[in-house]
Amino acid sequence: MEADKRETRIFTRVFRHWNPSAPPPIIEISFYPYSAISHSVRLRRGVYKVRLSHLFSAAPPAVIEAVAHILFSRLYRHETPCEALHRYHLFIENNRSVFEQRLRESYGPSRPHEPHGAHYNLEKIFDRLNRTYFHPRLVRPKLCWSRKKAQVKLGEYLSLHRLIVINRRFDDPDTPHFVVEYLVYHEMLHMKHPVTIRNGRRIVHTRPFSEDEKRFKDFGMAREWIHKMSGAEEKKRVRGLF
Ligand SMILES: [Zn+2]
Repeated sequence: MEADKRETRIFTRVFRHWNPSAPPPIIEISFYPYSAISHSVRLRRGVYKVRLSHLFSAAPPAVIEAVAHILFSRLYRHETPCEALHRYHLFIENNRSVFEQRLRESYGPSRPHEPHGAHYNLEKIFDRLNRTYFHPRLVRPKLCWSRKKAQVKLGEYLSLHRLIVINRRFDDPDTPHFVVEYLVYHEMLHMKHPVTIRNGRRIVHTRPFSEDEKRFKDFGMAREWIHKMSGAEEKKRVRGLF
């Protein structure tokens, strides 16, 4: 979805605030159906490419301006103005239920919620970990294997959906049980330790998170196995190039 002149005008104005002496920028803005609330800016061959969450297509100008301040200040590694952050988070809080609904509609149904893989059942693993490490206090979210064997992520927790997704490539007889357990355990910690915002940056793996992570019985072994596996894949890819 192409953004209209309103967003471009606002972004150009905010750009000037951060770069008073720069020539007028070329800014391309579009709305993008991210699976969670997210925005991005990249500089590509002199063009600023901005993607805004589709949930913000009807946001008031002051909120778009706040997003522009957040994106440009991060791009130039300056501290984000508090006022912009506050306005931004207030807007999300005030619209949380509408946003959750829209994300469910646009994103949720495309992911089948299937915790039973060919080899591992994520719900069983969750329940066992919950008993062992969480006294079993965590309320079980939806759990599923990713649809494809994604390249990058091992797993993720989507808080707006209350959904844990684990990369399908680990649903494999060659993957040890403790590795799948570790991946689920890591995402469970994301349920326990919410993201914190410090100086305008999202801290996902906080210190208490990392300390908790080490409590997992096979932490070292699991990390080592994953590390070796990614190393082997890397080598395969490099070899494939020659
Ligand atoms: Zn994580």
